[in-house]
Amino acid sequence: ASQFGMDEALEKLGIKKINEGTSTGSNNFSSGEILDSYSPVDGKLIASVKMSTAADYEKVMQSATEAFKTFRLMPAPQRGEIVRQFGEKLRQNKEALGKLVSYEMGKSLQEGYGEVQEMIDICDFAVGLSRQLHGLTMHSERPGHRMYEQYHSLGVVGIISAFNFPVAVWSWNTALAWISGDVCVWKPSEKTPLCGIACQNIIAQVLKENNLPEGISCLVNGDYKIGELLTKDTRIPLISATGSTRMGKIVAKEVAGRLGKSLLELGGNNAIIVTPDADIKMTVIGAVFGAVGTAGQRCTSTRRLIIHESIYDKVKEALVAAYKQLRIGNPLDENNHVGPLIDVHAVEMYANALNKVVAEGGNILVEGGVLSGEGYESGCYVKPAIAEAKNSFEIVQHETFAPVLYLIKYSGEVDNAIELQNGVAQGLSSAIMTNNLREAERFLSVVGSDCGIANVNIGTSGAEIGGAFGGEKETGGGRESGSDAWKIYMRRQTNTINYTANLPLAQGIKFDL
Ligand code: NAD
Repeated sequence: ASQFGMDEALEKLGIKKINEGTSTGSNNFSSGEILDSYSPVDGKLIASVKMSTAADYEKVMQSATEAFKTFRLMPAPQRGEIVRQFGEKLRQNKEALGKLVSYEMGKSLQEGYGEVQEMIDICDFAVGLSRQLHGLTMHSERPGHRMYEQYHSLGVVGIISAFNFPVAVWSWNTALAWISGDVCVWKPSEKTPLCGIACQNIIAQVLKENNLPEGISCLVNGDYKIGELLTKDTRIPLISATGSTRMGKIVAKEVAGRLGKSLLELGGNNAIIVTPDADIKMTVIGAVFGAVGTAGQRCTSTRRLIIHESIYDKVKEALVAAYKQLRIGNPLDENNHVGPLIDVHAVEMYANALNKVVAEGGNILVEGGVLSGEGYESGCYVKPAIAEAKNSFEIVQHETFAPVLYLIKYSGEVDNAIELQNGVAQGLSSAIMTNNLREAERFLSVVGSDCGIANVNIGTSGAEIGGAFGGEKETGGGRESGSDAWKIYMRRQTNTINYTANLPLAQGIKFDL
């Protein structure tokens, strides 16, 4: 990896051989065990992180709750200025951080840069938003009364994130939480701890330069056990958790048990419907990028193609031909389309899925397999595969976090395709490829897609920060990023003010003394 300037990137980001995994602003410490981060790109040790202990976590929480007391008093536009400076620092570090994302997580360099760009974009969005944390005013039913609502800072926001967007998901949350006056405690995925350290080093500089209290941005590192400290902690009113549905169900229960709020961004099982009126060329580009981009490890990756029988063979042939062009290899090399999976455990899940689809009666169209030999030493590189399947297969009903695409045939009206598309437990992203207005509008209507994201003539994968991001059903129901997603990071208060010398009661109730 050194040929891609990785050593320089690590140095620029302040990554040492062994890093303190606990941080309260600029104060770094840790007394836990060592977590080694190996790159799925070449299987080599990148660096290590000392994990947090329960005692370390306690120090972090004290620092965060202390910081909240003063940070909430800073006017929102001034908090926006801090987020603006953070965005500037990200611009200066875009290349280095993008490279680290690519090397530690395994996504292509372009996607690594894209992820950092998303962080920059959400900062820009949040800066503007810092002057627009609007509440409504209402007309009171009582004379001489005024009624309005306002949004106040919430407190400490706990962020638990997944490996596949190791930096962007954190900033989607933090940028909005910070302008809201909240402070954040982040537990990144144990599969990508160095990305967490790098982000923390960047924000720590901004906080220091502005003489802001430590604890506005805190970091803890470790596996689910450290995550549990956050979910059980009554000092944390909001837990934002991104990851598998399995994890989300546990977190939801834990947080609901103490009547906290949770924002859940969980697994998807995303489909593209291809109708007889689809543009086949666009369909193939959208489907292939959706299925093999980030080696199928996006929550919005395309898992299912639901194709009308009249064009099924045509689409199938075009896809098989396109898959032949795919180059699999080092994601830092921009000539390659497909990088590695995150680890050998993910490779096992991928292999199991392919066995299972065959066992259930599926037909493999493009063979999968694990690559070995020069350039594939990490054991994490797999061939993107395509299988013909039925929507009812158990394996099709599950999210396999790997480049496996299922082709499913439908006949008759678009409603039949919509029923298949909605016929899974997850509800994140969905798309229809069609030039038929009636089909497109039907798909977007109340009887159409049941997902949080529904697209026409673009694929399922990737989203812009301006819209609210998230999904329904087992995807968890949370919304992050744009639109009015900021509201979850604040508490709403309804205020009624009486400017008369009388005290009339609501609903005309009389109470004479
Ligand atoms: P994961 O569920 O294994 O882990 C996610 C995070 O949860 C990690 O930080 C982990 O340590 C933590 N965690 C696990 N169990 C926990 C518990 N009991 N209490 C507290 N924390 C716990 O997921 P992963 O393999 O890192 O990521 C892949 C999954 O994430 C996929 O299912 C993908 O679809 C999903 N994802 C969803 C979105 C979205 O926005 N909807 C975005 C990215 C990833």
